[in-house]
Amino acid sequence: MSSAPGWLRPERHGIYLPGTDCWIDPSIPVARALVTHGHSDHARGGHGHVIATGPTLSIMALRYGEQPSADRIDYGDTIELGDGTNATFLPAGHVLGSAQILLERQGERVVVTGDYKRRPDPTCAPFEPVACDVLITEATFGLPVFVHPPIGQELDKLLAALAERPDRCVLVGAYALGKAQRIIAELRARGFSDTIYLHGAMERMCALYEAHGVPLGPLALVADATLDDLRGRIVICPPSALSDRWTRRLPDPLQAFASGWMRVRQRGVQRGIELPLVISDHADWEELTGTIVELAPQETWITHGREDALVHWCGLRQIRARALDLVGYDDEDEH
Ligand SMILES: [Zn+2]
Repeated sequence: MSSAPGWLRPERHGIYLPGTDCWIDPSIPVARALVTHGHSDHARGGHGHVIATGPTLSIMALRYGEQPSADRIDYGDTIELGDGTNATFLPAGHVLGSAQILLERQGERVVVTGDYKRRPDPTCAPFEPVACDVLITEATFGLPVFVHPPIGQELDKLLAALAERPDRCVLVGAYALGKAQRIIAELRARGFSDTIYLHGAMERMCALYEAHGVPLGPLALVADATLDDLRGRIVICPPSALSDRWTRRLPDPLQAFASGWMRVRQRGVQRGIELPLVISDHADWEELTGTIVELAPQETWITHGREDALVHWCGLRQIRARALDLVGYDDEDEH
């Protein structure tokens, strides 16, 4: 195979398939968009036609209203895009409904990972590895320093902090799509059955997860609780609300933040975080490099992240690699 298939073109605003007039995760409104998952840096409003999984379409409907035109595609299903190009959506293990997209044309296979992780997550289907000629991978945490600890280790810290301070609450900043539900589901899996309190911005996304078959146990809104109700409780809010006056209604909240960025201690200090929790829905360095080895592509294209280290790593292993200059994929709070 040549160094890159001509039927696939990285543009500033997404991956473009010129023969089909389709884009993947475009950051501007387009006529036909294939969307890997519901995070707002991948799923934008305003497209003419959207091709995505059912949960991703539900998430987009929640945020932008119903799409004017859409194809719902299940994991493992293949859709003909035209120009002899087929797309198959496969689980990416990132958030509910998240997909990798396998593109095939005349025997060439390209996998666009979207955002992904390889760790188990009770709220979404696990990443399904597929061998390919070209791998287009994310690299949000593409530096060797980013090795995410097991989630159980981080949740043990959270539960210990809660037990030590029965008069306070632990306020966890967690992105409203994916991170919040994963933390809740993982706590339930550990037998934590107390009511978990939510900022109002979390309510509809948690209900959407439950409607798609992800049970989250007893939840209540902070707005409906008294100060005493919240003592000794876990409260979850969007990261932006951690420094909001909204926190004044909580009993002396201990501030926690769940993010892969908490691996860098200074990031937590800057935000005034007392309890940094290194919990990420993205592949860490080991997962990124392990996946490249497993999928054995001839060429790797690296998007939206810290590309340089991964390009260098590929070079040492005789894997052709290039960094794509995509814009608009850098909302750190979502990671
Ligand atoms: Zn994402």
